[in-house]
Parts: sequence; C-alpha cells; structure tokens
Amino acid sequence: MNRLFLRFLGPVLLSIAVATALVYAAITWIFGDPIEQSALRQAAPQIFLIEQYIDKAASDEWLLRLNKVREVSQVKFELIPLKQALEKLTQSQRQQLSTGKIVVNAAQRVLYRRVDLDGERYIGSEDDVLLVQELPIDYWFNIKLEVVRYIIVAFVLLIPIGFWSRAHWRDIQALAKVTENFGAGQLSARASTPAAASIYPLAQQINQMANRIETLLSSQQHLLHSVSHELRTPIARLEFALEILQSGLGSSDINGKQTQRIIAMQGDLSELNSLVSELLDSAKLDAQGQLQRETIVLEMFIQNCLQHLPPKPQGLDLQVECAATNKSLFVDQRLLSRAIQNLLKNAYKYADQKIIWRLKMQGEHWLISVEDDGAGIPASEREKIFDAFYRLDRSRDRATGGFGLGLSIVRQIIVLHGGRIHISESELGGAKFEISLPMVA
Ligand code: ADP
Repeated sequence: MNRLFLRFLGPVLLSIAVATALVYAAITWIFGDPIEQSALRQAAPQIFLIEQYIDKAASDEWLLRLNKVREVSQVKFELIPLKQALEKLTQSQRQQLSTGKIVVNAAQRVLYRRVDLDGERYIGSEDDVLLVQELPIDYWFNIKLEVVRYIIVAFVLLIPIGFWSRAHWRDIQALAKVTENFGAGQLSARASTPAAASIYPLAQQINQMANRIETLLSSQQHLLHSVSHELRTPIARLEFALEILQSGLGSSDINGKQTQRIIAMQGDLSELNSLVSELLDSAKLDAQGQLQRETIVLEMFIQNCLQHLPPKPQGLDLQVECAATNKSLFVDQRLLSRAIQNLLKNAYKYADQKIIWRLKMQGEHWLISVEDDGAGIPASEREKIFDAFYRLDRSRDRATGGFGLGLSIVRQIIVLHGGRIHISESELGGAKFEISLPMVA
C-alpha cells in the first residue's frame, strides 16, 4: 500500500513542481523576471540618482556630477569600456544595454548603463558604460520570497488533493485488506465500501466474485467430503466380509490360492482406505480458514517430523542442516510437520543415496528446503505437479505407490501459512523443494 501511495505522491509533487516552473516562466515572459524586478526596486535610489541627477546635467557637467555622487555614495560608480561590459552580459542583456536601458545583475549586485549612445557627454562617451557595484540588493531574500510564494501555492493545491486522496486511500486499503483475508482462506470476507465511494463498483464486483468462489468451493468441498465419507462404510463392510471369508476358508483352501486372492483384495482395500483418508484430509484443509498456530522450538519440530516418518530405506543418507535450532517457529505444528513429512517421504521414494533437509532464517522469512540426488522433476512439470492426482512418470510412480495428492496437500498447508513453495534443480542432481514462510510474531 505504501508503494501505491508513493506512486501517487510522486506524480502529484512532480506536477506541482512543473506547474510552479511554468508559472514562473510565464510570469517572467509576460512581466519580466520577478527576482530582477525586486532587485530593481531595491536599487531604485541609485537608479534615481543616475536618471534624475547625473543624466539631467548639461553635457560638460555630467562627469562632475558623477564624481560628486561617487564621493557621497557608499555604492561604487565606475566607468568601464563598452567591450568589457558586453563580455559579462547575456545576449538579451546586451540588446537591452544597446538601447540605453539599465541592466541589472541581481546575483552580483551590479547594474550597467551606457553613458550615452551618441558621444554627447564627452569624447568617446558612447564607448563607455557606467558600472554600479555593491548595490544594496538582497538577492537571497528575493529568491526566498519567490520560494515562499510558490510553497504557499503548492500547499494550497496539496490540501484538497490530500483530502481527496485520504478518503480514496482508506477505501482502497479496506478493499486490499478484504482481498488479502479472502486470499488467506477467510472466505466470508466482503468489502463494505460505502455507495458514495469512487471505488464502489469495483468493491461490488469483488464481492460478487467472492460470493461465486465461496459457493463453488463449498459445494466442491461438500461433494468431496460426502463422497469420501460415504465410501468409508462400504470399504469397512468389505474388509469385514473378507476377514470372515478368510477365517471360514480353513482347511478347504488346500493350495492357498483363495487366501492369496483375499490378501490381494485386502491390499487393494487398504489402498482405497488411504485414498479416502487423503481425500478427506485435503477437503478438510480446503475448508480450514484458521490455523492452530503455536510456538515450537525448531529442534523439537525437527525431531517431531523425523519421529513420524516411515523407516528410512537402506543406503539412504538424510542430512539435516539447521544453524538456528534454538529459535522458535510460530506455526500450525501438526500441519507443517505433515507438509515436511510429505516432502521427505517423496525424497525417500525418489532419492538415490542422499537427501538434505535445510532450515534457515532469511530476513523476515523461514526458508525450508528438501532436496535429493534422484531423477529430479523436469522444469515443464514443476507447476502441474502440485495439482491433485498429478503424477509424473506413471511407470515409475506405480512402483512407488501414492495417489498424487501429497504435494497438493503440501501446497495447501504452505498457502494457509501465507508462504510459497517452488521446485528447482538441486545441486545434488535431483529435485529441490523450497518453502518460504513469513515469520509471524
Ligand atoms: P505421490 O503421493 O504420488 O508421491 P505427490 O503429490 O507427493 O504424489 O507427488 C506427485 C509426483 O511428483 C510424484 O508422483 C512424483 O512423480 C513426483 N515427485 C514428487 N517428489 C519427487 C522427488 N523428490 N523427485 C522426483 N519426483 C518427485
């Protein structure tokens, strides 16, 4: 939100600066440079002396009067050659000077003026310029005056913009909060933007969209939940029936063929049972809006995860790297362990010899990665693999079991924690699953 504010404030301030520059340029063009004009006002006594006292003298008295003024004035009056004066002036100032006008340089506190244009005062007077130095001009005061003037204009402009954007702001922020909550799983979150607000139509559309998503999700969850539940009872009945059948066979199954078939059927049923359990878990996660966060020391968390893993296949090396085992996580411990265990179980299935599980802090995030030296996951499959029932290489996967629900559950858990998961290629050669979890106080 701050970024949005800065992006808005930037152009506003820039436009005010551009407007100020334009106003200054327009005033200068129409009425002359305001700074120069106030310098002229400050130098008015000296200009008055030149125009009304020195210049009013008869030709032969002109120099006398100038000298008299020199004697009494603290300001320096000097005669310099026209060529020297021209060197110090800009093109437009030269033009002004050539028409006999007074040229002021406010920053240097000086003014220039031709003695005359046709050599009437004394011989060669048309080639001389009267340079008046150390004029009582306060250049910085004039600049400050102009700056204050424009700052006041900018403030007056900013006040209505500020009021307008504040109201706008609050509405946008409230809407952003709603979408954030909705995205975090709080499906009942809706915008209550007032009808008079300018973003009201947008808020209405977001609410409609949220309604549709909520309805769709809840009917999908309901369906999944009901189907899974309904399947449980016939599965249990079949298991029971198979057990009775097996115990009833007794000595009649001479070569054990019937028993073998029953055992195979029991295996299929237990597979079906775990599929139903995973489906129910997935549906529960979908419906879950809130996490049961608790504080857990990292060392305990690691131990908990490892304890509930199936036995590690022989010849496989699992390396756990964590530099901050005494730090604490504030997470839904049951769910996060489940996610990590799913990743580690997959690594058990697909690694050749080595698995590394890393946990570290980076800025405001926990980075958790599980990588192995197995066959890896092609870049084109890395997104799809998180979809439910998506499996990579069917011939390879069949041997490893599973329904393609494990990673989809991992992603659900990480998203519920406000985190992200992505796959890359491990330095070990296999797949690297990286989780980034925001630290929650
Ligand atoms: P399953 O329960 O079938 O393992 P998952 O959702 O956990 O389902 O994984 C989906 C697919 O992703 C797997 O079938 C497998 O093809 C692939 N996969 C998962 N983890 C790895 C890994 N560490 N290395 C290679 N492939 C993997």
